[in-house]
Amino acid sequence: MNTTSSTFFSALCDEYFYSSEWLTFTVCTYITFQTVFWSYNLFLLYIEYHDIPCIDQYRIQKHRVKLRFQPDLLRQLRNGTFKHQLSLILTLPFLYHMLNYFGHVSVHSSIPSILTIIWQLTIFILAEDFLFFWTHYLFHTRWLYKHIHKQHHIFKQPTGVVFVIADPWELLIQNQLAVWIAPIFFKEKHLFTICLWIFLRVYQTINAHSGYDLPYISPQYYFPWLLSGTLQHDYHHQHAKMNYGSFLTLWDRLMNTHRLHNLAIE
Ligand SMILES: [Zn+2]
Ligand SMILES: [Zn+2]
Repeated sequence: MNTTSSTFFSALCDEYFYSSEWLTFTVCTYITFQTVFWSYNLFLLYIEYHDIPCIDQYRIQKHRVKLRFQPDLLRQLRNGTFKHQLSLILTLPFLYHMLNYFGHVSVHSSIPSILTIIWQLTIFILAEDFLFFWTHYLFHTRWLYKHIHKQHHIFKQPTGVVFVIADPWELLIQNQLAVWIAPIFFKEKHLFTICLWIFLRVYQTINAHSGYDLPYISPQYYFPWLLSGTLQHDYHHQHAKMNYGSFLTLWDRLMNTHRLHNLAIE
């Protein structure tokens, strides 16, 4: 497995990207992001524009009309997505240098063992969830909410792409810093692990904003006690309070901020 994987990434780098590890890294991470972003979001937009009873039964805020009947919000989504795509192209080329500042990103070497990948991703998740929870908690204090975080909360009924609608300070601190703080300080990290991390984080946030409590494809369907997800973050958008965590319910349970929709009443 190692030889094949090593050959794959080396070949990619040497044959298609002029032996530039920076270029290989930037293209691979960009493609990973875009693949998850567009496939999941286009699926969610498709089900917003079509009434499919077997999927609509999982829509959380059934008392509100679907997004296709809310042109102002759709316009906000279009503008927000355009700005986000632009900022991605402008900032992604720096990620490789950032991750190489304290450690080293491997491109030519073999893919790490499955155990190494799992424990590294576990640390990434724990660090991200810790920082996300506490910055998000602070963003809900009066001044910070009014001047920064309110922008993200214009969507009381979210859909996947809503995660890009945020103040630049929020995007920088709550999203980017929380995601990259652990990988930055890791001595050795492989491009493959970084792509997996981007996949997990983007999938998680789109899923949390999806507005549908879909079985099977939602991670919290399998570990409802441990993982935060759609039901928690949807409640957070509807009420603008509670459920501040991203991946885990850990900090919300400790701080007594964990709440779920009472679907029977709503
Ligand atoms: Zn949100
Ligand atoms: Zn919030």
